[in-house]
Amino acid sequence: MNPVWEAHFQSKLTSLTETSQHRTLFVTEHAEKTWLVRNGKRMLNLASNNYLGLAGDEQLKEAAVEATKRYGTGATASRLVVGNYPLYEEIEQQICAWKETEKALIVNSGYTANVGAISSLVGRHDIVFSDKLNHASIVDGIVLSGAEHKRYRHNDLEHLERMLRSAPAEKRKLIVTDTIFSMDGDMAHLENLVILKEKYGALLMVDEAHAGGVYGKNGAGLAHNHPELAKRIDIHMGTFSKALGCYGAYITGSAVCIDYMINTMRGFIFTTALPPGTLGAIGKAIEIVSKDGTYRQRLIENGGYFRTALQEAGFYIGDSTTHIVPVIVGSNEAVLRFSMKLQEAGIAAIAIRPPTVPQYSSRIRFAVTAQHTNDDLQWAAQRIVQIGKEEGVI
Ligand SMILES: *Cc1c(COP(=O)(O)O)cnc(C)c1O
Repeated sequence: MNPVWEAHFQSKLTSLTETSQHRTLFVTEHAEKTWLVRNGKRMLNLASNNYLGLAGDEQLKEAAVEATKRYGTGATASRLVVGNYPLYEEIEQQICAWKETEKALIVNSGYTANVGAISSLVGRHDIVFSDKLNHASIVDGIVLSGAEHKRYRHNDLEHLERMLRSAPAEKRKLIVTDTIFSMDGDMAHLENLVILKEKYGALLMVDEAHAGGVYGKNGAGLAHNHPELAKRIDIHMGTFSKALGCYGAYITGSAVCIDYMINTMRGFIFTTALPPGTLGAIGKAIEIVSKDGTYRQRLIENGGYFRTALQEAGFYIGDSTTHIVPVIVGSNEAVLRFSMKLQEAGIAAIAIRPPTVPQYSSRIRFAVTAQHTNDDLQWAAQRIVQIGKEEGVI
């Protein structure tokens, strides 16, 4: 490679290393239920988003195999060309029933859904109001759209209202928020967001990536804790890659809005449809989460147990009220050391650093799942507390 470029890349990598922000890929050699093998070491898995254990479910595997046998391994084209095989129509109907909405559109990933939907909904004459802790894919969608980007302080709706009030009345406005924040495990105040969006004539879009399959009526998402409220939210987005154990994402909204996206969303138009096997598994996953609440109940109990154990030991877990439990440490160096020690002790605890989280709030992001047993969590909590003391985190 051209040496000038090589030196440029190297200098960036060196500066990342100096600030303990350099990342390395490790191989997860094996993962089964709540355990995994990484770097040759067996560890309790407290780092995955497989919240209900569906990624290893036999019924999903069978559905994937069956769809693959029937339709092949690849969709062969984008959906608007010849890639729209019958499973798409069936599953979009299924999503409409699950989410109690007029129309649904399946897209290739949560990242694509946010980048694609936001950049199609708004343009350079519009304003987007976005929570400061929203997922990176939301930020990227706003940047790509060219719209004015207004970031309000995390969950601070007074700040949001001040921004809405001072924005020109004639401008189109979009408010966008995660429902459960991915690195903090706290929740957006959806009722008040709906009130604000109605008051200022804005659109509201919610990202249910971490709540889909977990919260709300039939596991349809946090907004569906109150189905009437869910109906007042213009656009719902969610993924099949986390609690549903598959891959891909959905966007729901009015028929006109979804038709608009089919016609304008570049991340939908210019990409090959999902592989049939994935669609087959998605259909089965939605069927399971919408009829069986036992996994969800178990996940909520596990979250409560684990949060209490860490909090009572003196860890700072921010405002988490869910299965996502951050232990906020602060510096990159300290969090890396803590993570290494936990891994040596058999806990897959991954350090999360900037730019994923704000400066000086580096953390271990623990995620419990419905499959963790009481013994698993008690064992982990004891070790985390012991190592936390040794490392001076508590
Ligand atoms: C994971 C995540 C996404 C991206 O979803 P993928 O299906 O992994 O691409 C989008 N939004 C939020 C809030 C997420 O946590």
